[in-house]
Amino acid sequence: MKALWGAYAALLTAVFLVSVAAGWTTLGLQFDNDVYDFLFRASNPPAGAPSSVLLGIDEETLRQTRGGVTAIRGILAKGAGRLAEAKPAAVVVDIILADKHDDEADAALAAALAKLPNLVLSTDITRQGWEDPIPVLRATAAAIGHVHPIPDPYDNVVRKISLERIAGGQRRFALALEAYRLASGGAITESPSTLEVGPVSIHAPRETWRPLWIRYRPPDSPVPHVGFAELARDPAAAAKLAGKVVFIGVTAQSATQDRHMTPYSFGQTMAGVEINANAYETLAGGRFIQPVRPSVELASCFVLAAAAGAIFALTSGWAAWLLAGLVLIFVHAAPAIAWSQGWILPYAPLLSAAWLSIVAAASFQHFVVRRNLVRSEAEKDRYQRAIHFVAHEMKTPLTAIQGSSELMGRYKLTEEKRAEMARMINSESKRLGSLIRTFLDVERLSEGQIEMKREPFEAREVVETSMARAAPLAERKGIELRAAGIEPALLRGDRELLEYAVYNLVNNAIKYSPSDTAVTVSAAPEAGRYRISVADQGIGMDEKELKNIFRKFYRTKRAEATGEAGTGIGLSIVDQIVMLHGGRMDVASEPGKGSRFTIALPLSEK
Ligand code: ADP
Repeated sequence: MKALWGAYAALLTAVFLVSVAAGWTTLGLQFDNDVYDFLFRASNPPAGAPSSVLLGIDEETLRQTRGGVTAIRGILAKGAGRLAEAKPAAVVVDIILADKHDDEADAALAAALAKLPNLVLSTDITRQGWEDPIPVLRATAAAIGHVHPIPDPYDNVVRKISLERIAGGQRRFALALEAYRLASGGAITESPSTLEVGPVSIHAPRETWRPLWIRYRPPDSPVPHVGFAELARDPAAAAKLAGKVVFIGVTAQSATQDRHMTPYSFGQTMAGVEINANAYETLAGGRFIQPVRPSVELASCFVLAAAAGAIFALTSGWAAWLLAGLVLIFVHAAPAIAWSQGWILPYAPLLSAAWLSIVAAASFQHFVVRRNLVRSEAEKDRYQRAIHFVAHEMKTPLTAIQGSSELMGRYKLTEEKRAEMARMINSESKRLGSLIRTFLDVERLSEGQIEMKREPFEAREVVETSMARAAPLAERKGIELRAAGIEPALLRGDRELLEYAVYNLVNNAIKYSPSDTAVTVSAAPEAGRYRISVADQGIGMDEKELKNIFRKFYRTKRAEATGEAGTGIGLSIVDQIVMLHGGRMDVASEPGKGSRFTIALPLSEK
């Protein structure tokens, strides 16, 4: 039973490990991505009023500008004046200004940018390091922030940004973070696992590049957008920018490479600048989402496997299924519940931990434990039959003893008759005694209570005595009992027990053979062992029966059909005796052809 529980625990541990591993497969990670996006769309809490505005170089602006995309700096220089008048809280330029144009134009742009309050310019990672703005422009900015997005390696969706990046040995904070720092007037305070800026504290461990999961504003209430052309044309547009953090970038669908997928996109892409504005909104609104720690994930999987194990070990039937069902419902709902609290709970490992462990635990209980139960029921049944048999066997000598003693007491009998009856009483009570002894011996031996002697003795004598004891039965059944070379050898152990064992084998061979056949006994030392073999030409056994004959109270159907009395305990005790002597027993048998039982015992040194 202990081994069974060990196997059960091992199985559930394996399930636990497999489900944790499943969470790290590509399939598991992508599955979790899809669940993330689904939850995003299904249950994003309403966002408050936006605190940023996009000032976009949009289709309209580009249409009105000669030179198209190359004229971006001109648009910027021209628009900056109007923007400065609108009095934004901060301005973020999500355009890389790293290359020199002509000095005049650069100076004009610098002069325009200098008017903007809390200006953040952008930089990106190249192979050489940061692609910072040229010095004249750099001088106008209050900060430089990086625009490096992190598209998911599996599906290219941008779900997070790094708040911090290092390139060429230099660190840059994210554009959105720098903008938030300036707008909130705070400073950035760092610890290995958190960043504090203004009123917010963000859990963003340094070892994973301080990730910030972007809480995108829902499609029906996006970050407001004003085009440069609109700003020039419509004085009312400037009012939308007042007091806001303005993100400037290319928003025209046709003009930019810098577009990415988001959890909302459904194949539509979002301009990089809008993604950065959304990151800013996440910071400004304090609307953080973050994954649970790996230790929480591991513990959850472990608890699920343990719960499934406990459910099927402690309960059964509909109660077990009901509980398992509840666990499954909980697991399926857990990521949504966690999400509503701002936590990302990985779905794949939890789901596989719950399902796999429930299936494994239920199957184990059904196939292994239940089967063992059935087996032990069968054993009990056989035990009862054996008790019946023993009781029945006892009746015969008891009746004889009772009858004889009664006769002796009641009638005057001749001396000769008296002596005969006394002899009968004596022999019947001995039979009774030996029957009881055998039965008790088996129990005691199997519980390890019997004391075994360790004396040297002659093996041949044991075999010959056993054969002699069985000879009358063989004669009665018309079976030839053959000795085929019984050789001498010295063994060590309990002579009586061994005699019992050999006698049992010979006795069985005779019992389970028809008349006019032969039982052949051979015994000889061979390769350091003394091999005693008993072969018959009797009913034999098939392979399935062979596996069971050493179990207590087991009898084959074939044996029962012969009408020979038996308890099914003889062989189990023979097996124990052989084992106690450090020996081995082998059986070869074929139904209808016969059987050969072989005992191999270690030879005594001297
Ligand atoms: P039993 O009292 O029934 O003989 P055993 O423990 O000695 O009990 O044997 C167990 C069972 O093994 C028997 O009931 C019989 O089915 C089978 N068996 C033992 N010896 C032989 C044999 N020589 N030939 C065929 N079947 C045997």
